[in-house]
Amino acid sequence: MSKSSIYGLTYEQLTEWLLERGEKRFRADQVWNWLYKKRISDFNEMGNVNKETIKLLEDNFVLHTMGEEVKQESKDGTIKFLFKLEDGNLIETVLMRFHYGLSVCVTTQVGCNIGCTFCASGLLRKSRDLSSGEIVEQIMNVQKHLDTRGDDERVSHIVVMGIGEPFDNFENLMDFLYVVNDDRGLNIGARHITVSTSGLAHKIYEFADKDIQVNLAISLHAPNNELRTSIMKINKAFPIEKLMKAVDYYLEKKNRRITYEYIMLRDVNDHKEEAIQLANLIKDHRHLAYVNLIPYNTVDEHIDYQRSQSETIQTFFETLKERGINCGVRWENGADIDAACGQLRSKQIKKTKVV
Ligand code: SAH
Ligand code: SF4
Repeated sequence: MSKSSIYGLTYEQLTEWLLERGEKRFRADQVWNWLYKKRISDFNEMGNVNKETIKLLEDNFVLHTMGEEVKQESKDGTIKFLFKLEDGNLIETVLMRFHYGLSVCVTTQVGCNIGCTFCASGLLRKSRDLSSGEIVEQIMNVQKHLDTRGDDERVSHIVVMGIGEPFDNFENLMDFLYVVNDDRGLNIGARHITVSTSGLAHKIYEFADKDIQVNLAISLHAPNNELRTSIMKINKAFPIEKLMKAVDYYLEKKNRRITYEYIMLRDVNDHKEEAIQLANLIKDHRHLAYVNLIPYNTVDEHIDYQRSQSETIQTFFETLKERGINCGVRWENGADIDAACGQLRSKQIKKTKVV
């Protein structure tokens, strides 16, 4: 079996692993410091760690499990990375620049089984989950790229909105969140991290029970079951009533704002009537709700949805606003480099026939 990524271990897991092998507790601190503060690319760079410990780590872990296949930089500063995993699978990671900082969008699975009809990722069935190490490594690779530029830039925000359904890879997602949030490591604030789910209600309960204050986004995309089921088949298993019950539980536990993502598909879900239904659906907790209207990105010739027209988006937005719903429109970054999730990967797969 190949060695696993050391980035997959939380601080506690690494400490326990070292203690079990007769190492002193402070070793974990040292190793963690080299990994996340100094950001080494070889275990032998750990100057104050003795040779035996380095050998122990080298015998059991690796620092690199993926290679950079493609890197594209957009005029607006967005950088899209395509990484090749050990098994040849390709995943993508995107760095976006905002006025509030640098945000990285990570992938959690190779493909996705949820199969939303409008999504490029859903076209390619899930072939496997990513390990926690592979998710953390995406952040490390982007951070190391920034380090080489010498501008002292730091990844400050994370969105778990790349390919895959994060709640379908729950344990690895949680370990990833604990690693990147840890103040002994990258120390990325929980409030700067957002996890997006297609609505796996049972996992929203579990997530609400976790002791970490990361933001939750729910891909709603439709305000009634008939429409939602027609574009997201997951709605059969977790219809809107079930989802909203889970939302109630989450809000009660966390008292934190939830973002509802709503992709604007021309003539499908963008009528004024749907805006009114949406406002009604969330009106009872509108002080803890934010609707993010996402203009659809045409992704693939096999998917024939179109983006709603600007005036339609505007009307939808105003209809929500008039009803006291907080909302905004997310205009995309990196439009010139296929920045929509799944686009670069699906293009590359077609080109190279790797899957
Ligand atoms: N699986 C999770 C997270 C990844 S998808 C989820 O569905 O929430 C992240 C977001 O990108 C979702 O809101 C999804 O609807 C949106 N998305 C997918 N394909 C898109 C496209 N072609 N254009 C714009 N947004 C898209
Ligand atoms: Fe999967 Fe999200 Fe795409 Fe749906 S939108 S297929 S859940 S990645």
